[in-house]
Amino acid sequence: LIEARDLEVSFGGTPALRGASLTVETGDVVAIMGPSGSGKSTLLHCLGGILVPDAGEVWVDGQRIDSLDEQRRSTLRRDTFGFVFQFGQLVPELTAEENVALPLLLGGRRRAAALAEARPWFARLGLDGLHRRRSGELSGGEAQRVALARGLVTGPRVLFADEPTGALDSLTGEQVMDLLVDAAREQGSTVVLVTHEPRVAAYADRQVIVRDGRTSPLTVERVGS
Ligand code: ATP
Ligand code: MG
Repeated sequence: LIEARDLEVSFGGTPALRGASLTVETGDVVAIMGPSGSGKSTLLHCLGGILVPDAGEVWVDGQRIDSLDEQRRSTLRRDTFGFVFQFGQLVPELTAEENVALPLLLGGRRRAAALAEARPWFARLGLDGLHRRRSGELSGGEAQRVALARGLVTGPRVLFADEPTGALDSLTGEQVMDLLVDAAREQGSTVVLVTHEPRVAAYADRQVIVRDGRTSPLTVERVGS
C-alpha cells in the first residue's frame, strides 16, 4: 500500500531524515516510535504527502506521490487520507462538530449531511454533549478526541495519526486506541501512528523505530496478535 524508500529531509541545512524507509501493508496498524526530535513527525508528513522529501521516493498504491504537484497531492490527501496532527490543529472558532465535518465539507458534502455524519463520533469517543462547543473551549484531551474523529470521519484509506493519545491519561488513551483500532478495522482503514508510549504501540501489528532520522534495522515485527 505504502512504500517509502531512503527519504531525506533537511530543514535549513540540518538533516531531519537521513535515509528512512518503510513499507505499510493494507489493513496494518503501524506504530512509529523513537526519541523526541528523531524525525517521526517528518516521516509521517512525507508518507501523507504533506511534505515533499529532498530525496527518496514515496509510493501509494503503485503511484509515486512525492513527485506529484501540490494540487494532485492535496486531492490525494482529501480523498484517500485522514490526518490527526500532533498539536490538534482544530479551527478554534468552529464548533466541535463543524471541525469533525470539515473534511466532508471539503469533499463537497452538504452541510446538514456532513454534520449528521459527524455527530455519532461524539458518543463513540466519550464526548457526549460537546458537539456544539467551540473547539477553542475544549480541554486538551477533548480536543484530541475531536481531532481523531475528524481524521476518521471520511473513512480514509489510510489514517495518519501523530501522537493521537498524547494529551490523554493512560486509561482514556487505551479506550481511544481500542476505538481507533476498531473503527479502522470496521472501515478498512490502514493506520500509521506515531507514539512515545509502548502501551499505545502495543496496539500495532508492526513497530518501526526512528533514530537520528533513520528507520532502525531493529524494527520489531509482531506476527499475529
Ligand atoms: P517529537 O517526538 O518531539 O514530536 P519528532 O520525532 O516528531 O519529535 P520531528 O518533528 O520530525 O521530530 O523533527 C525532526 C527534526 O527536524 C527536529 O530536529 C526538529 O527540530 C526539526 N524540524 C521539524 N520540523 C521542522 C521545521 N518545520 N522547520 C525546522 N526544523 C524542523
Ligand atoms: Mg513529532
